[in-house]
Amino acid sequence: MDVIVVGLGGMGSAIAAHLARRGHRVVGLDRFEPPHERGSSHGLTRIIRQAYFEGPAYVPLLLRAYELWRDLEQRSGRELMRITGGLMIGPPGSEIVTGARESAQAHGLAHELLGPAEVVGRFPAFRLQAGEVAVYEPPAGVLFPEEGIAAHLDIASEHGADLRSQTPVNGWSATDSGVRVTTPHAVLRADRLVIAAGAWSGDLLADAMTTTVERMVLTWFHPPREPQLFDAASFPVFVAHHTDDVALYGMPPRADEGVKVAFHHGGRTGHPDALSGVVDDEEIESVRDVVRQRFPQLGSAPVDSTTCFYTNSRDGHFVIGEHPRHPQVVIAGGFSGHGFKFCPVVGEAVADLVDRGSTDLDLSPFSPTRSMA
Ligand SMILES: Cc1cc2nc3c(=O)[nH]c(=O)nc-3n(C[C@H](O)[C@H](O)[C@H](O)COP(=O)(O)OP(=O)(O)OC[C@H]3O[C@@H](n4cnc5c(N)ncnc54)[C@H](O)[C@@H]3O)c2cc1C
Repeated sequence: MDVIVVGLGGMGSAIAAHLARRGHRVVGLDRFEPPHERGSSHGLTRIIRQAYFEGPAYVPLLLRAYELWRDLEQRSGRELMRITGGLMIGPPGSEIVTGARESAQAHGLAHELLGPAEVVGRFPAFRLQAGEVAVYEPPAGVLFPEEGIAAHLDIASEHGADLRSQTPVNGWSATDSGVRVTTPHAVLRADRLVIAAGAWSGDLLADAMTTTVERMVLTWFHPPREPQLFDAASFPVFVAHHTDDVALYGMPPRADEGVKVAFHHGGRTGHPDALSGVVDDEEIESVRDVVRQRFPQLGSAPVDSTTCFYTNSRDGHFVIGEHPRHPQVVIAGGFSGHGFKFCPVVGEAVADLVDRGSTDLDLSPFSPTRSMA
């Protein structure tokens, strides 16, 4: 089949690779030059974990994602995933703690509930706040997103995909036999269209999906002393309760870029072309205030920073499936700040939808028809 994939970021690169490996004729289009720093998939590291507080429905996809990341490492010869263990931290009744335990129990995942003394005994960089506990899960770790995108794009190209960067899609329409896609240079036709446009999805899917783009600040703290407390052998990835709407997360460095600690949600919202890429001093100080309490060794550390977009669906769950009115168009969007770890399994599932209109993975919680509700 002839398939056009719009967006070659985390999701689109994986989708293009899976489609091309199955023998489809793929044209992949991106407005920038992926992997790039203008969307949602940059910043050197991403968390991957299994005891998913966002909901047990994600766990089967996660287990498959782990297999596919390892498979991609083998095929590409690149290191893409480093296992560090993970701590989900908060009061015993918080969503992060109860949700992680619920997913772990529902799917029989290895996990332990740790109190403050056990946490500091095993992971000396961490200090729990009064009344907090932690769910520890051994298989959590970090992914290297730019490497993952490059690996998927290489595989897509090796299998004949025609990948075009600097090619913005201005619009598309359904035709009797498929789709028509317009770029500044050409009008392209294909049997199927996949839209994986990240923060710009709303521009192409205004009548099919409601999303809010949120500008997040990423900060890396350079430990002035005892850097070994924060390396991958001693410092698990973590997500910690901050307020009901905002969490704090962090992970060890990939190399020498510093310890990433940042807020999950609570960012400014707007159209991605209008949101500033400049980080204000106050934004750095607000994360430093929390870091000072949780990781005193990092409190006065020098910081590097950048911005990155979340594309939030109304309920915070992904939007994956056929377009509500045009079954020849498949949507992969609304990843709501937690999608990267799923890239290869989304690639596989979307390729199934293009191939045969269905997939063995249960995507019903992510149906586009619910996202307009
Ligand atoms: C700060 C931050 C931290 C995160 N941490 C984690 C984490 O720890 N773990 C995790 O699993 N997830 C995490 N996420 C979320 C995850 O990174 C995203 O869900 C994921 O990268 C989204 O991938 P995407 O393909 O949808 O978007 P992108 O990778 O941004 O890809 C979209 C692509 O579409 C292109 N495009 C858009 N419009 C057009 C058009 N009209 N024509 C042509 N091309 C177009 C863009 O140029 C872009 O390349 C984080 C995100 C951020 C921002």
